[in-house]
Amino acid sequence: MALGGGYCREIESHSKSVKNDPTLIKGDSFTAKSVSRLTEKYAMQSASNLKELLQCPICKISMYLPIYQCPNGHTICSDCRTRVKSRCPTCRFELGDIRCLALEKVAESLELPCRYQSLGCDDIFPYYNKHKHEQHCRFRPYNCPYAGSECSAVGDIATLVEHLKGDHHVDMHDGCTFNHRYVKSDPTEVENATWMLTVFNCFGRQFCLHFEAFQLGMSPVYMTFLQFMGEDIEARRFGYSLEVGGCGRKLVWQGIPRTIRDNHRKVRDSLDGLIIPRNLALLFSGGNDQELKLRVTGRIWNQHSAN
Ligand SMILES: [Zn+2]
Ligand SMILES: [Zn+2]
Ligand SMILES: [Zn+2]
Ligand SMILES: [Zn+2]
Repeated sequence: MALGGGYCREIESHSKSVKNDPTLIKGDSFTAKSVSRLTEKYAMQSASNLKELLQCPICKISMYLPIYQCPNGHTICSDCRTRVKSRCPTCRFELGDIRCLALEKVAESLELPCRYQSLGCDDIFPYYNKHKHEQHCRFRPYNCPYAGSECSAVGDIATLVEHLKGDHHVDMHDGCTFNHRYVKSDPTEVENATWMLTVFNCFGRQFCLHFEAFQLGMSPVYMTFLQFMGEDIEARRFGYSLEVGGCGRKLVWQGIPRTIRDNHRKVRDSLDGLIIPRNLALLFSGGNDQELKLRVTGRIWNQHSAN
């Protein structure tokens, strides 16, 4: 490869000049530094060229094993090969069943940084492991946890907190205890649209409290649960409790917040939260069927600190 060759020549000429000219030894550390910078530059350049080479010319996605080629040498990924059936999309020749072993070998030898490097991931991966890592990389952006609308916003936690505040006008609360009142004038209307989100700031982290109405099988219910704005492994360090009641009755729930990596629908479908049947909710509200007035109190704690 042309670039690889250029890089080798640089190193050679440097070592020769050091050997032949003893006066250069003094400045060796400086020279070595500039060579390493040069090496870095070439390595980055050749990596990005290789990355391009490994991109399927049809779907523009990185090609993974097996990589195919037509008799004229046009490469194609295995997905596209199945899709285009028998003809090379570039030259219209019969595709056949030719593997591009050379490119597969090149891919194998390649190490690339995680695509979320700019978000803080410093890991370098062999080509074939990179994709797998990126699907689970803890630096990959989070989806917006606001479920009241289809929202395509993504970002790190700080960005999403600003987004929830600015774009969804979500209530923000400081502290690890809360006392919330949910009022609805027509409680017989149970629709998925009845949905609320509040963000709590405590232990230096953020938690989302969801409250919503939906139809669980044949029964209208209200559900409330907490999500942690961070990874699952961190979420497990916390616990929370919810209480709702009225007229001498009380329902209590204790749980572990779910990561916002799990979307709101997934948590809801797993019923991992406090579920209040509507009849009971109306009883809590005073029993007149006219208005829903639920008072939900709760507390968040850190499992690893004394509480
Ligand atoms: Zn393709
Ligand atoms: Zn071709
Ligand atoms: Zn990563
Ligand atoms: Zn959003």
